[in-house]
Amino acid sequence: MMNTLRKMMVREGIDVFGTSDVTGYVPDQFASTPYAVTLGVRLSDAVMQDVVHGPTKIYFHHYRTANAFLDMCALKCVIYLGRHGYNAVAIPASQTTNSAATAGDFSHKTAANLSGLGFIGKSGLFVTEQYGPRVRFATVLTDHKLHGKGIQTSRCGDCTLCMRACPCGAIIGSHWTQNSARDDIVDAALCREHMKEKYAMIGRGAVCGICAAVCPYGKSRNSY
Ligand code: SF4
Ligand code: SF4
Repeated sequence: MMNTLRKMMVREGIDVFGTSDVTGYVPDQFASTPYAVTLGVRLSDAVMQDVVHGPTKIYFHHYRTANAFLDMCALKCVIYLGRHGYNAVAIPASQTTNSAATAGDFSHKTAANLSGLGFIGKSGLFVTEQYGPRVRFATVLTDHKLHGKGIQTSRCGDCTLCMRACPCGAIIGSHWTQNSARDDIVDAALCREHMKEKYAMIGRGAVCGICAAVCPYGKSRNSY
């Protein structure tokens, strides 16, 4: 059944598909759906190459369209699982729900990492094997039993490109481990404030993308 779902999602246009057991990681409200399907769509290299010095209007549009597409695919996933007798809930591709507006109901990165799709870079972005950080994600939580094989360590090595490129110094430069808190890796509030202040004319200051654009993983499809 999951193989059929995977094929269906690939036919829809999904580039990255993974499954994982997220028991212990989901908040109480989702305790009855402790397994995850991760859906990812890669961002266009033609768009990303122009973001190296800052976001562009076309990047914002692309980012928003990719998120809407992911939300539609996640809904199709929920419908498919429902028709096979399983409960499922789609976590939106891009919706912040905490008071600081820096996190959603559940971390796509956690599910993607536990699926074995990649690791979290010094940028705090999820770095996939095939497309580096040039990927947007959505997650479907379900009670259909699933498993995955997580990636335990950072593969950034000595690279500090994202840290040096960040215009506001929000990237701390630490190597991620599965025990890292986000604050150990990136100052999300500083990043958000910088975007609001400097890029208000592009997507009302909600995107930047420099750290994703400069990462060697994903650039020219370098894989690790
Ligand atoms: S999105 Fe921009 S401001 Fe935020 S951490 Fe990345 S480079 Fe820095
Ligand atoms: S730019 Fe370098 S340090 Fe930053 S996430 Fe990519 S590989 Fe890691």
